[in-house]
Amino acid sequence: MTVRGDKADVRPGLPCTELSGFEPQLTAEERALQQAVHAFAAEVLRPAGRALDRMTAEEVIAPDSPFWEVHLVAAKSGLGDGPEAGDDVPPALLARMAAVAVEELGWGDAGLAVSLGVGGFPALMARRAGTPELADLCAGRLGCWIGTQPDRGSDGLSLYPQERHPSAPHGNKGNLTARVRGGDIVINGQSSAWVSNGPVAQVGLASIAADYGAGFYDEEGHPRGIEVIVPLDLPGVSRGKPLEKLGKRALPQGEIFFDDVKVPLRHALSTEDAYWRGHAATWSSAGVAMGQLMTGLARAAFETALAYTHERRQGGALLAEHQLVQYRLGRMGSQVEAMRAVSRRATEYTALSPARHPYYTAQSKSLCTDLAFQVADEAVQLMGGNGLTREYPAEKLFRDARAARIEDGENHLLTMKFGHLASLLHQDGRLGAARQRGDGRGDH
Ligand SMILES: Cc1cc2nc3c(=O)[nH]c(=O)nc-3n(C[C@H](O)[C@H](O)[C@H](O)COP(=O)(O)OP(=O)(O)OC[C@H]3O[C@@H](n4cnc5c(N)ncnc54)[C@H](O)[C@@H]3O)c2cc1C
Repeated sequence: MTVRGDKADVRPGLPCTELSGFEPQLTAEERALQQAVHAFAAEVLRPAGRALDRMTAEEVIAPDSPFWEVHLVAAKSGLGDGPEAGDDVPPALLARMAAVAVEELGWGDAGLAVSLGVGGFPALMARRAGTPELADLCAGRLGCWIGTQPDRGSDGLSLYPQERHPSAPHGNKGNLTARVRGGDIVINGQSSAWVSNGPVAQVGLASIAADYGAGFYDEEGHPRGIEVIVPLDLPGVSRGKPLEKLGKRALPQGEIFFDDVKVPLRHALSTEDAYWRGHAATWSSAGVAMGQLMTGLARAAFETALAYTHERRQGGALLAEHQLVQYRLGRMGSQVEAMRAVSRRATEYTALSPARHPYYTAQSKSLCTDLAFQVADEAVQLMGGNGLTREYPAEKLFRDARAARIEDGENHLLTMKFGHLASLLHQDGRLGAARQRGDGRGDH
């Protein structure tokens, strides 16, 4: 307590904060990682993201596009990958460091952050599946995840047969399928136009329906599946045009076609009954990352609005000096803090729980992306007419946030799936009852 004259000054000083808000304390390692990824996000991702946003989808993937420079710098620095298991870091610390790093990437540019993340996804999932030879096959090749198809969007995310609409005779196998015969997997059909990195990826992790000789459906009418690593320079692979879209324009997306594409069975990461856990693991990882990177996007929108309210004067004062504006900033800031807390909890749970589950990470993804959209929308609103113009970054953040509410599972459906999981957990009248059962299709 300081004393001025005869009056005690009991006002508290400003609290201790980091780039990522009200951290109790980042370790020296975490802070060093945060600052390194932040510099990459500020100096490479953000300017490239703004430039790519104004290009056509064809220009984004042209040989002279800044898109390639981003991947080159990320590959050289290794920052796009973040820390990984096996780096001799305890799992809890690893989870926190990943959350800290991915938030910075999302702060830089959410579309490019997805491109970097999914670019290394086949290699990451091959490592996690304990198949180092497949991880080596993917190393140094730009990756993608092939999950959705023209006729199988939300339907591809159902883990339980009872989630099927009651009037459907069986599940939906979609338009891209595998036949497993002898030692080979033969793939036919096409992906949706939404495959991130689809127009340029060199290797894909495909999560698709499979026939092992007894048809595509199991006795409950649910499609059997396979997760398989597919080099995308094989005969029979072709691509559609890159997609023009509202947000995340720096992220190239497009269809991939497969005409009798043959890969050896050893390219499978999961088959038959093990498929469900493999598919769940893939989906959990993606859901966790979305919460982290959208926290970064929301923080960027908050900071943009905050800066503007300290420049713009209306009503005889800076916007930031008006109580109503302070209330609105307070709400945005608390939404960002809530996103960080929720996404870190999902990160830790997924890294440390003995039986993680993608319907839990689904709620983190849907909550964080809905909140990011609200924060970006309020950033536009706080900046008045300027918020709508391309001169300021808010409108791009708003468009990028909009895309994320559909990406990686549409938010209503994801929330419904969390509700389905909650109802399964409550079957015995209490949440803890399933702990002993451990019988779900979770990702153990
Ligand atoms: C930016 C972005 C990146 C993406 N990246 C990838 C990627 O890398 N790889 C990939 O494979 N896919 C990717 N996707 C695709 C994404 O996963 C799908 O768009 C998403 O799962 C929704 O599927 P859909 O678009 O077919 O919508 P649909 O499933 O057709 O849904 C349309 C609407 O119908 C509602 N609906 C659907 N089913 C039901 C139901 N049973 N009951 C009630 N309502 C229902 C939904 O809530 C939604 O509002 C990406 C999408 C975006 C936008």
